[in-house]
Amino acid sequence: MDIFDKIIAGEIPSYKVYEDEDVLAFLDISQVTPGHTLVVPKKNVDNIFDYDEDTAKKVLLKLPVIARAIKASDDKITGLNIQSNNGPSAGQTVIHSHWHLIPRYDDDNLNSVLAPTIDNSAHFSSEQYQAIADSIASQF
Ligand code: AMP
Repeated sequence: MDIFDKIIAGEIPSYKVYEDEDVLAFLDISQVTPGHTLVVPKKNVDNIFDYDEDTAKKVLLKLPVIARAIKASDDKITGLNIQSNNGPSAGQTVIHSHWHLIPRYDDDNLNSVLAPTIDNSAHFSSEQYQAIADSIASQF
């Protein structure tokens, strides 16, 4: 069982923003920018090479829906990067497929190529994580 399986099973807490039968979206603990969200299939899919067609449809069709909710959660969000690392050579550290939705702000000075190496978790309290998750979840 990988760490995202444990989050899906509710064995490890997460700041959930969206859930349905097939998909879970929750805040990435690293918050590359505020609102940084991971979208994962509930099915244990390792990476992009491992998707069956049905699971791909169910997960990928949710990306624009969740992206719009993130954007609507904060007026200052003006863009969004979507990134998925597939395989250790591509920087995948959790071997359970996930899509990073990283909101962009006009003044964030983020080099999105370096985004996977950024960890801002020291700057967020549990109340701040919860407030961000609630504000995205309320957009659905
Ligand atoms: P990657 O490096 O693309 O495999 O991304 C894995 C991501 O999972 C990283 O951005 C981590 O910050 C994030 N992550 C790991 N454990 C947790 C967790 N328990 N809750 C939320 N995000 C996590």
